[in-house]
Amino acid sequence: MEEFKPCPFCGCTEVSDNDYIQEQQCHQCGAKTIVNNWQTRPIEDALTATIAQKDAEIERLRVALNEIIELPRHILLERKHCFTMINIAKQALEEVNDD
Ligand SMILES: [Zn+2]
Repeated sequence: MEEFKPCPFCGCTEVSDNDYIQEQQCHQCGAKTIVNNWQTRPIEDALTATIAQKDAEIERLRVALNEIIELPRHILLERKHCFTMINIAKQALEEVNDD
């Protein structure tokens, strides 16, 4: 038997499934769907994909910041090396913005 996703309105995981009329209904709040589309969540799926993309972008920027932080101290303190840091940050931002 297929396991149903939690109710999008109350989070309840108890869902009744009526095969005869192709209807699923939440036990707690009574929300129901027709034609077996309880498992179809286009907005939730799109948000999940967006969150994964944003997490990847944050990770890329975190790596760039760590690269800058971990530069040898003499590079961090010398003004002439600020282009090194700017280029690391610029590269990361370009990669993130390409998505
Ligand atoms: Zn519910």
